[in-house]
Amino acid sequence: MEDKRSGMILGLSVSSGIARGTAHVIQDTGRILIPRRTIKDGDIGGEMAKFDAATREAEQGLLRLQKDVRQKIGKRDAEIFDAQILLVHDASLRKEVASRCQVQKINIEAALAEAIEKFAGMFVQLEDSHFREKSSDIRDIGKRLLDILLKRQHEEILLLPEGAIIVATELLPSTTARMNLKMVRGLVLEGGAQTSHAAILTRSLGIPSVVHVTNALTRIRTNDQLLVDGLAGRVFINPSKSILKEYEKLQKEFEAHQSALQDEVALPATTLDGVAIKISANIGKSADAEAAFRFRAEGIGLYRTEFIFLVQDQFPSEEEQYRFYKTVAERMTPEEVVIRVLDVGGDKMLPYFPLPAEINPSLGCRGIRLLLKHPRIFKTQLRAILRVSAFHPVSILLPMICSVGEVMEARKILDAVKTELRAEKLSFDAKIRVGAMIETPAAAILTGQLSAEVDFFSIGTNDLIQYLLTTDRTSAEVATYYEPLHPAVLHMLKSVLETARAKGKSISVCGEMAGNPAYTELLLGLGARNFSLTPGEIPQIKKVIRSVNSQTAETLANALLALRTIEEIKKRLSQRHPSRSA
Ligand code: PEP
Ligand code: MG
Repeated sequence: MEDKRSGMILGLSVSSGIARGTAHVIQDTGRILIPRRTIKDGDIGGEMAKFDAATREAEQGLLRLQKDVRQKIGKRDAEIFDAQILLVHDASLRKEVASRCQVQKINIEAALAEAIEKFAGMFVQLEDSHFREKSSDIRDIGKRLLDILLKRQHEEILLLPEGAIIVATELLPSTTARMNLKMVRGLVLEGGAQTSHAAILTRSLGIPSVVHVTNALTRIRTNDQLLVDGLAGRVFINPSKSILKEYEKLQKEFEAHQSALQDEVALPATTLDGVAIKISANIGKSADAEAAFRFRAEGIGLYRTEFIFLVQDQFPSEEEQYRFYKTVAERMTPEEVVIRVLDVGGDKMLPYFPLPAEINPSLGCRGIRLLLKHPRIFKTQLRAILRVSAFHPVSILLPMICSVGEVMEARKILDAVKTELRAEKLSFDAKIRVGAMIETPAAAILTGQLSAEVDFFSIGTNDLIQYLLTTDRTSAEVATYYEPLHPAVLHMLKSVLETARAKGKSISVCGEMAGNPAYTELLLGLGARNFSLTPGEIPQIKKVIRSVNSQTAETLANALLALRTIEEIKKRLSQRHPSRSA
């Protein structure tokens, strides 16, 4: 008999393929899943003993973190923890927790979560910014204590059973980076977006993923059988035999299509009229270099080093970083590896790095701003990269550039690091190339002026679209506004590509647009000659490149640039290539 909760939910595919597996539902990963149980009078003493033990453990953890931050970042930043250490032992917090346990007869975790919300809420309403900050300190402490109290349960959430299909509201990059994704067959998110980091990661691993799946968490339960259709963006809950049979056929067809595409890998990425296009790979973990090699990428165009930082409990040392970068370089020999320096902040937070709470972190201290503010972190990474440059062609890519001054400041720090290495008699490439990401409208407008300071550019369409169209790239709510075919995006890309070419600077497109066949001809027509993309996407992009003519592509791009609305642009593009519609 068919399960009464069987059914189908529509979503948006962000990583193609078909997956069958067992649902593993995670509620609000990154935030914490809090169990709520009724307790007996006699349990209260035991619950409070757990609380007291957690406060002691939290204090020890904070002291360790404080020491680490003092050594690596500086004394002033380390002082942030003084207030938190005091708060952990705050008598009124303990009293509130105990009273909730006693009166409501609830477990310690639930009582603590409520008490934290109450205190944080009180402070956040106060005008004084000092008190508002205190509110985030309280939340931080609450999270730390809950993490300790729920340690086992939390780790179990990340310990995935083999063949799991993860169902969640959202996956934060720090959580995704810690999961053993080898166990994961598919991903279903209520939120998410095409360019969110969870989607980028699952695409690179070839894990079928569907996002914007409304009510996924209420309709799907752990252990439900799921079928994820990452081709059409559908999720089947406890599918019937006939649906499964239908999909077995589809799966075979998909596999045949994939293996036919695989043959493209060995062919050159040259247009019909003989224009050679360079195809490099985007990678995160060093293991991704294996895929880049397999798909014959002509080098690494974007090495997102933040993933190395996200999987650790503390800043990776120079030696650790050196080993990661060296592994990638050796796998790609003799091709160039473009290493983007740490790009955190926004939605990519390091659990061990205390950043001031900001209402709008995407517009806050992130990317290059953060590195310039904390030169010690920046210098350690530059030392590791420079040491690899002694034996391999590597380049440095600066994230989130908004001004020429930022590049100058970064270069000054790079020069200082070179001087240090020279004094230590360590070899490196003195002429190491430095590039800037063009992923803010400011950088796009200043491409000409930035050319004087950098050797190359890389267009990060993911953030460029986000900031140009004032649309959060991770939000399902405004996903319809996040539109790569918006006329402003096309004009901006055209201007950046043209300016870089006029200044004689190499420029590549490394955002998700580069890996989507719907945009390949357009990008070629706008002047793109270097693409950097997820390794698994290389065959299909090569196939499109080999089927188009650069002149025709230019005519198409010019025609699209003349249109004023997204709808007109989409219509014109889909008339041309119905099978590749965006
Ligand atoms: C981009 O913004 O397009 C980009 C490539 O960087 P990331 O996706 O890592 O932010
Ligand atoms: Mg970016």
